[in-house]
Amino acid sequence: MIPKQTVQEVLEASRVEEVVGEFVHLKKRGVNQIGLCPFHNEKTPSFIVSPAKGIFKCFGCGEAGSSVDFVMKHEHYTFPQAVKWLAQKYHIEIEEEEQTPEQVQAENERESLFAVTQFAAKFFFDYLTTNERGKAIGLSYFNERGFATHTIEKFQLGYSPEAWDALSNAAIEAGYNKDYLVKTGLAILKDNGNLYDRFRNRVIFPIQNVSGRVIGFGGRILTSDKKQAKYVNSPESPIYDKSNVLFGLFTAKSDIIKKDNCFLVEGYTDVISFAQSGIENVVSSSGTSLTTGQIKLIRRYTQNITILFDGDAAGIKASFRGINMIVEEGLNVRVVLFPDGEDPDSYARSHNAEELNEFLEKYSQDFIHFKADLLSKEAGKDPVKRAGVVREIVQTIALVPEQLNRLYFIRETSELLDIKEEILVNEVAKMLRNKYYKDQKKGEYIPEPTQIKAEQQIIKVDEGDLFQEKELIRLLLNYGNLDFNPADARITMGDEEEKANAEEETEEEQLKVAIFILEELLSDDLQMNDTVLQIIFDEYRQAYEQDTIPSEQFFVNHPEESVRKITVDLLTQPHTLSPNWLEKHKIITTIETHFEVIARACISSVYSLKVRKISSMKKELLQKMSQEEVSDESREQILIQYRQLDILQNKLNNGLGRIVTA
Ligand code: ATP
Ligand code: MN
Repeated sequence: MIPKQTVQEVLEASRVEEVVGEFVHLKKRGVNQIGLCPFHNEKTPSFIVSPAKGIFKCFGCGEAGSSVDFVMKHEHYTFPQAVKWLAQKYHIEIEEEEQTPEQVQAENERESLFAVTQFAAKFFFDYLTTNERGKAIGLSYFNERGFATHTIEKFQLGYSPEAWDALSNAAIEAGYNKDYLVKTGLAILKDNGNLYDRFRNRVIFPIQNVSGRVIGFGGRILTSDKKQAKYVNSPESPIYDKSNVLFGLFTAKSDIIKKDNCFLVEGYTDVISFAQSGIENVVSSSGTSLTTGQIKLIRRYTQNITILFDGDAAGIKASFRGINMIVEEGLNVRVVLFPDGEDPDSYARSHNAEELNEFLEKYSQDFIHFKADLLSKEAGKDPVKRAGVVREIVQTIALVPEQLNRLYFIRETSELLDIKEEILVNEVAKMLRNKYYKDQKKGEYIPEPTQIKAEQQIIKVDEGDLFQEKELIRLLLNYGNLDFNPADARITMGDEEEKANAEEETEEEQLKVAIFILEELLSDDLQMNDTVLQIIFDEYRQAYEQDTIPSEQFFVNHPEESVRKITVDLLTQPHTLSPNWLEKHKIITTIETHFEVIARACISSVYSLKVRKISSMKKELLQKMSQEEVSDESREQILIQYRQLDILQNKLNNGLGRIVTA
């Protein structure tokens, strides 16, 4: 039991932003901090921490609470466990009676498994650092590898003695249950009921989870005996889920946040050698090839991953796979290829820290340059092979989640390979469309489609209106998150009134495209006539009311099939600018990678739709007036309304100014 007073002391000392900050990369946003929610899968942050109120809240999944709630939820701890964790963080001593191994085992199975792996880690470490044989065999191996004492201590490296049951015997003697030795894979149960140790005569690399608890081990042989496996690893267990663990993350996480980048290497020795060279923001996915779960782990701390690979064929193949997976999760990826025959470990050992840093700086490339360089060498001047290079790059670009980012990469590729942007846009669009229809056939991420109600379908939509509405939704989907300055755009479009205003005002008004469009349409209470477009517009409105902007993925995965279809269509035809607009402003462009063009398109589309809606309102009024039973008085009223609409329409047509909202 922890004394009540101590609990109080711990809770008062805990600062929610510091506690959450241990696990989530937070950014300042006004008085609050914001980050990606660790409790559900998201690509744009809706997880808010309020230092003033001492709470966190996710507007996506609804998780909320205080520091201690966060630790309980995140680490799957009980209340006392979470308090202990916080106490350790804030250096508050908890006076508690010592627990016997039996009591620990009784607490729950997971805790018992943690206890036995912790015991084993200490056993291996002690054997390496204090036992004469351990020092002679294990420690001298590590020393030969160039691992310093502080490094061995930092990673709690160890040595497992050359015996069948040294660890098992020691653990049982200390009161640990046989079952847990077997469940963690530290011991293997023989038919005769005896235990034998999995790790024998090997140097040991303990694997820790994000909060620093040992959950498994890797063991390396000391010789170069080809007949024995070089590495033996712990199997998966209730506390060791390989696809969601990264070696080194616990010690690396604060540096990952600080450097806002994470180096990803192949294995234990690479991580350790880098750390020893002073590069501590490094992790490895040892034991498995890279998984999505591991990328998501990194994403809690940074958006930037640099993968380091050996220059051999296997390394290159793995790098392509890694790049695609990281890109698909919406993170930024850079790649460093090591010279043939070198890996990060050997390079770090044969160069000093400065040279290593220089090398990483000089040879890290974004995925486009990396792929282009590598493949171009192979392809030479062969046009067919060169087309293959383009396809390889386009394939990766098509995985990037946001349209804006895709356009950014398309532009980069276009410059680098000297290919027209338009061609690349079309290639990417084709791939996206294929992927969409393929996924749909496979029945992937298509939940039960909800039917549009029959009466909703009757509305007949004017062709011209439909075009305008589609154009607006297209701008929302493709560029909703883009910042632009409506006033600037109006000025470049020749809005004299705005120009005069600008000379007086000094304040820059940056706005997200989605916010601009929504505010313009909502302020005039305009709706879409088309039912499906109205569904999308409504979703935007609801998100807007909660201060967020939905991602294109939200609509690509929408439960309503017709919404998904139109989303894909609108996302994959980025150069159908309104023909009116092109003609009117003599803009010759086939592609909207130029932000200015997007900004102008937003403004002109909003006003064009308004003009159209006003026309049809005028038509309605005329019809009303021509009816016989209308009294003189209401006829007068209608005329006034008509006149007002007329003025409005003229202003819109003439100036494209800010008239409507004024
Ligand atoms: P060497 O001294 O021969 O270079 P190494 O211990 O550095 O040996 P490598 O073969 O270079 O091992 O592999 C690099 C990293 O890949 C290792 O540090 C290890 O973490 C990881 N690794 C290799 N094989 C395995 C395996 N079978 N299971 C788990 N990890 C492995
Ligand atoms: Mn190696």
